[in-house]
Amino acid sequence: MNELALLADLHRDTERQGPCGQAETRLAIELSGLRERRGLRIADLGCGTGASTLVLAHMLDASIVAVDFLEPFLETLTARADDAGVAERIIPCTASMEALDFAAESLDAIWSEGAIYNIGFERGVREWHRFLKPGGILAVSELTWLTERRPAELDAYWREQYAEVDTAAAKMALLEHHGYAPLGYFVLPRHCWLEGYYLPLQQRFQTFLSAHENSAAARTIVQDCRQEIDLYERYSQYFGYGFYIARKSGEG
Ligand code: SAH
Repeated sequence: MNELALLADLHRDTERQGPCGQAETRLAIELSGLRERRGLRIADLGCGTGASTLVLAHMLDASIVAVDFLEPFLETLTARADDAGVAERIIPCTASMEALDFAAESLDAIWSEGAIYNIGFERGVREWHRFLKPGGILAVSELTWLTERRPAELDAYWREQYAEVDTAAAKMALLEHHGYAPLGYFVLPRHCWLEGYYLPLQQRFQTFLSAHENSAAARTIVQDCRQEIDLYERYSQYFGYGFYIARKSGEG
């Protein structure tokens, strides 16, 4: 099994594959102003097993294209949408966010929680701009430095994992530069990382390792997760996930 398939197996039964929470998705929806609009067409990019997709489907009068390149996640999402009675509002779509083929100006909103980093924040906000209708909403969460300065160990780790990690001021400037007007920003609270994401993941480690007979590749994945969790536990005052809500304002 290759690394991607192993990662899919580790994450597929968890409710979410990155830090967030229903209350935080709801807050972002409130800040977006989408609740006042009807007949929306939304794309949830890198939707995973649908943590945000289901909240969007419950709260908005919308049809939601749920995009992920991992089929097993979309299967779980579809089952969850059936159970929640919102399946008819969700269109699962196996595709890469690097090669989306939405028509120009066809979407009222693009949602992406804990996923835009896969193509990089700047590339995502630049490329996705054209799919939004004028006045359309972009709502993305992104790893963000919370302070101007930070411990060298932490700085080196995240720069290696994700070269674009930066402060909220820098992310806002990029949004403005690429034709968006920021509407709101907040930082996900600690419980979104710990209870919402890391704890369920930690509870999966043993079963995951046994299922893959303690293979070197499976152990490496678990070790990497443990290192990331350890850094969060020690340094969460310096970094977090920022949630950015912006409106398409111009050409960009
Ligand atoms: N939004 C979900 C999942 C976040 S994890 C949540 O908040 O729980 C990131 C997701 O992006 C994973 O589901 C992963 O499969 C997906 N992903 C990573 N690279 C991708 C790509 N190039 N195209 C589409 N999806 C991708």
